[in-house]
Amino acid sequence: MAKFVFVTGGVMSGIGKGVIAASIGKILQARKLRVTAVKIDPYLNYDAGTMNPYIHGEVFVTEDGGETDMDIGTYERFLDINVPKSHNITTGQIYSSVIERERRGDFLGKCVQIIPHITDEIKDRLRNIASEGVDLVIVEIGGTVGDIESLPYLEAARQFRLDEGISNVVNVHVTLVPMLDVVGEQKTKPTQHSVQELRRIGVQPDVIVARSKVPLRPEPRKKIALFCNVEESAVFTSQDIASIYESPLLLDEQGLGNYLVTRLQLSSNSPDWSSWKKMIKSHLSPRSQVTIAICGKYAELADCYVSVNDALRDAGAALDAKVNLEFIETDDFEKEPAKVRVLSRFDGVLVPGGFGSRGSEGKIKAIEYSRTHNIPFLGICFGFQLAVVEYARSLGMEDAGSSELNPGSKNHVVDLMPEQNDVLEKGGTMRLGAHEILIDEGTLAYSLYQRTKVWERHRHRYEVNPEYIAQLTSGGLRFSGRSDANRRMEILELSGNKLHFATQFHAEFKSRPGRPSPPYSGLVQAGLNSKNQELKTHPVLASARK
Ligand code: GLN
Repeated sequence: MAKFVFVTGGVMSGIGKGVIAASIGKILQARKLRVTAVKIDPYLNYDAGTMNPYIHGEVFVTEDGGETDMDIGTYERFLDINVPKSHNITTGQIYSSVIERERRGDFLGKCVQIIPHITDEIKDRLRNIASEGVDLVIVEIGGTVGDIESLPYLEAARQFRLDEGISNVVNVHVTLVPMLDVVGEQKTKPTQHSVQELRRIGVQPDVIVARSKVPLRPEPRKKIALFCNVEESAVFTSQDIASIYESPLLLDEQGLGNYLVTRLQLSSNSPDWSSWKKMIKSHLSPRSQVTIAICGKYAELADCYVSVNDALRDAGAALDAKVNLEFIETDDFEKEPAKVRVLSRFDGVLVPGGFGSRGSEGKIKAIEYSRTHNIPFLGICFGFQLAVVEYARSLGMEDAGSSELNPGSKNHVVDLMPEQNDVLEKGGTMRLGAHEILIDEGTLAYSLYQRTKVWERHRHRYEVNPEYIAQLTSGGLRFSGRSDANRRMEILELSGNKLHFATQFHAEFKSRPGRPSPPYSGLVQAGLNSKNQELKTHPVLASARK
């Protein structure tokens, strides 16, 4: 069976445990081992689909239509694999299946308890994942040690090592080592307390990864080893770095890879970092730059748009350009329409996915401004739907709207499909995951993708209303990509502009470092072209996407 690396977190959340879990995976993958990753979210929601991205960060959509935690996206980008939705385990899912089995009579006569029934369910799920043909499973347990909700998972991890044997399971604990500004002293006490709490639950960490501004100095390292009962050679630092993609290299240089190989008795080769290093170089030393405005509702929280940001950066790196991002709150354009002129100083405008009416008229204003002032524009999902509304209004259909936003308007150019009208539940009822899209040759979409069939990921309820397609296209708008036997419009483009392009799907979820997403490459390239005054209407990008 596969071997396991459990990653737990201490001191506080938000210190980059997901990146460290993904980095550990990468370190082992660089040694030609087959790796996958699992994220455990101890909350009671069944999945991340109904959670507010403003509070919890982006909802990442998997190929098989899971609405998952954004760490799954980090795993996909680091490991260049598609992670299935079964790899995002929540307490909601665990309890649902145990209770369902109880109702079925599977436990007849028994009292159903957290130990062993909940812990068994957790371990069974992990074992199932281990049988997917991998050498290693990285399991990140969300939250911070000491949270009530994560206790059953830590208990399952404790049992797991007992069940599988010490050479098959490693526990990595990620903590924060704060620095006192005045003297620059690295404080280890929070780490000591966190490990004490972990050991009280029965889990002894083998490895400690300390997040700190600068590398751990010898003294605090010794202290951590002594008080946490960990070998000194198993205490690593993850200091602040320019690009998160440097994290695996940083940890491997300190010996984490060698430690894991020995500890897990893996027969492995020496690591090959050549292509990863090349990718990092392109991220760190670009020759030119573009500045893109992301016009959204949750504009102030970059975590809402992690995949969008990463897709833009991946695209930039491949084009030897740094992509500067500025978040623009579209609410402001509604209150003060003249403010939209701020967009004139950007090389490109992106309107990302979104829900609900607040800020949507402002987004429409941003799209109108980009179209009429020939600023490269990319619309994603909601951005695509609003581009349709904006275009319809420009054709004189003044009350054009979407039934999600303007239920009172007569012309719903974006609407639910007839079969969707009876959907009342909110969780898991959207059109989700990867669907095949057919692209017309000779279009901008084709020049970006270089192919006529692509699979891209979705998360939406509303669609371009088929009744308006003839009218919309008569004005010059082109739907160059469609799906579902031409019933659904997936890509729109307008010729004449440097770039006026939008997709019903979320192409960002498939962008990978070194293999950027074509629509995002299109925006960055158009931004670069427009900056250089080489006004190419169709920037042809031979995308490396396979
Ligand atoms: N609110 C829109 C819909 O449900 C768009 C969703 C999105 O942007 N992800 O169709």
